Amino acid sequence: MVVTRFAPSPTGFLHIGGARTAMFNWLFARHHGGKALLRIEDTDKARSTQEAIDAISEGLDWLGLDWDGETVFQSERAARHAEVAHELVASGNAYKCFATSEELTEMREQQRAEKKPMRYDGRWRDRDPSEAPDGAPFAIRLKTEMAGKVTISDMVQGDVSVQNSEIDDFILLRSDGTPTYMLAVVVDDHDMGVTHLIRGDDHLNNAFRQLALIRAMSWPEPLYAHIPLIHGNDGAKLSKRHGALGVEAYRDMGILPDAMFNYLLRLGWGHGDDEIISRAQAIEWFDLSGVGKSPSRFDTKKLQNLNGHYMRDAADNDLVRLAIPWIEQDLAQALTPADKELLGQAMPVLKSRAKNLIELAESSLFLFKKRPLGLDERAENLLDDPARTLLKSIHLGLTDLEDWTLEATEEVIKAIAESAELGLGKLAQPMRAALTGSTSSPGIFDVLILLGKEESLGRLADQIE
Ligand code: GLU
Repeated sequence: MVVTRFAPSPTGFLHIGGARTAMFNWLFARHHGGKALLRIEDTDKARSTQEAIDAISEGLDWLGLDWDGETVFQSERAARHAEVAHELVASGNAYKCFATSEELTEMREQQRAEKKPMRYDGRWRDRDPSEAPDGAPFAIRLKTEMAGKVTISDMVQGDVSVQNSEIDDFILLRSDGTPTYMLAVVVDDHDMGVTHLIRGDDHLNNAFRQLALIRAMSWPEPLYAHIPLIHGNDGAKLSKRHGALGVEAYRDMGILPDAMFNYLLRLGWGHGDDEIISRAQAIEWFDLSGVGKSPSRFDTKKLQNLNGHYMRDAADNDLVRLAIPWIEQDLAQALTPADKELLGQAMPVLKSRAKNLIELAESSLFLFKKRPLGLDERAENLLDDPARTLLKSIHLGLTDLEDWTLEATEEVIKAIAESAELGLGKLAQPMRAALTGSTSSPGIFDVLILLGKEESLGRLADQIE
């Protein structure tokens, strides 16, 4: 069975790259009917925070990524990591290194002076531990291969090799007894039964060391897929300079989770020319052979456009649910059940105009405003004397109208425009100002219908007297 895992270090928010890695692991597992596991790599206590753990799990929830089984916290497994290190010492695949930190600093300085690569020189590899002073602290190091090379057949990068001489006897367990990242990852992946490691290609170098450790334990080797990192629109590695890095920032920009999912999916993975890919299609189609080898570029504009598409396509009741918190925040009050119903009625009109949830919420506010409406500056400026006179005849014309429909209201306004020898826009603008308090809104007849006759006439009258 396919088992994947997402293993974030909780030192900040769920960034774009991490979110995409999480998605690829999730999709690969779902595609194969396997398991997608979540492991929080919180061994670095100084840098790991509960806020980061919360932010990561909120980000994953928002994207709709669910995980199988219990979340594993790496810090809780330190005893198991140490046990494996000692097992390796017992089997002769690792050894105790009693070198002091002063000694190691001196070694490195000498290597630097001689312009040699800086790596541990194996000074305790063949020494008898009894040569160390009694009770002296020690680290445990892996006894790595000296000759030959190691090759990884990466599912994205292809065959990648490194000379074994480039891999030094790295530390598994520090002299204070804590496991290194290298040890913890390998032990946890093994114990969790992970079959496929899908992660950023910044971890490719680690994979050679991890493989050495796996082989020393004679454990089954996982398959690796190192995916290229995401770059900014200018081709440089993604950084703060490129704008928001965390998925929560996109949620706060009013991006829909499905749009983000689709966008991140297409960032580095392709299925022919398909741009719009649903979650179900993604699960059906996802494979690692569709992952490109070169870095992809994050393009906020493209994401915004894709979001506009998802807004237009989304079910009205989903948008109502997603927009309510934004509207309530804007209004600083809760919507009543009647307000929510009205919002549902307005949704087909509102969603065709909005690129994101913020715009959607803003464009709906006129529905919930109370008379007399406060007008924004541009709306106020529009309502000069001639405009107010026009509103009077519009009010009069509409008052007599019994059949309050799109067609009938349009007919009345058109007739007034004709007799005043004005274009329809000349009437629509002051009407919009009076009816919505602003100069932009859905089509004016839609506004009339959504507000209803009584409210529309009331709002017009408020601007006449
Ligand atoms: N915790 C590591 C990170 O957040 C990932 C380790 C891995 O995927 O092997 O970069």
